[in-house]
Amino acid sequence: MTAERQEANHPLRLLRINAGSCNGCDVELTATACLSRFSFERAGFVLTEDPAEAQIVLITGPLTVRVKEQVLQLYAEVPEPHVTVAVGVCPASGGVFRDSYAIAGPVERYLPVEVNVPGCPPRPQAIMEGMQGAAALWRQKTGLPSFSPAAAEDAPAAPAPEGPGVAVRGKLSYDPAACAACRMCEHVCAGGAITFTEDGDGVHFSLQHNACAFCGLCTHYCKTGALKQTGNWHTAHSREEKADFVESASIPYRPCAVCGEPILPVPTDLIRLAFRGVNRDLVRLQNLCPECRQAETLLGVRR
Ligand code: SF4
Ligand code: SF4
Repeated sequence: MTAERQEANHPLRLLRINAGSCNGCDVELTATACLSRFSFERAGFVLTEDPAEAQIVLITGPLTVRVKEQVLQLYAEVPEPHVTVAVGVCPASGGVFRDSYAIAGPVERYLPVEVNVPGCPPRPQAIMEGMQGAAALWRQKTGLPSFSPAAAEDAPAAPAPEGPGVAVRGKLSYDPAACAACRMCEHVCAGGAITFTEDGDGVHFSLQHNACAFCGLCTHYCKTGALKQTGNWHTAHSREEKADFVESASIPYRPCAVCGEPILPVPTDLIRLAFRGVNRDLVRLQNLCPECRQAETLLGVRR
């Protein structure tokens, strides 16, 4: 076996840096590394405490002011080439701690993060996907072939947590046609993942998956069902894919059916919720501005 092949078949050494996390992601990392079902070692990874031999750096936490210098010092001891993976929403966005005076992050302000695995915390399977992405990047940088341990062929695949009856907190989906633009979701989101803006064309929704904790609070308060939690836990992505992890959609203004003033349409789901059904009169009101709606209702509309 050549020296290059031997090096390729050596497990990649992972250094874990806690940049002031709440330990939620560290618990998931421990589960990922310790439970055989996640195939950590069979996939070619081994943990190290020595920065000088690390090839992949896993960072958890929002980078607090208190640990910032130690983190940067430790990181500087990791030789090139290496790949940096941000585990959880905190290193990417600060998560629920983002506005605290104690936070110096996000981490990528100081360190070149190449793979993000958002979630609060991310599932072990998502962490594994992130590490596999990091390993591929590392091998791209070094030009070494893929890791192929002798036991790999016998190794059972990590169980897929999808399918009927499997409850998994995953990415959110948004349907602008069902959204009343009440902005309750934006109000309750502690991580600041949801933002609305408004201009002459309408209202624009944006959801940063890199800041979403999957807490489900927004879906709880979204009475029209515009926001839904899916079971899609595949959150690991490279720096280049970051833009794909922002969900954006617009609710365009349309003219009031009577006076032509631009209005935000009332979603049919909201009408159904409020009136326990939809009829022709209600559909007509749906297309009126508040003033014209008021004038019409004074004439009497079936409820
Ligand atoms: S998504 Fe739901 S909670 Fe958010 S603004 Fe739309 S209707 Fe309101
Ligand atoms: S699930 Fe909703 S409320 Fe919770 S962090 Fe994500 S966007 Fe914010």
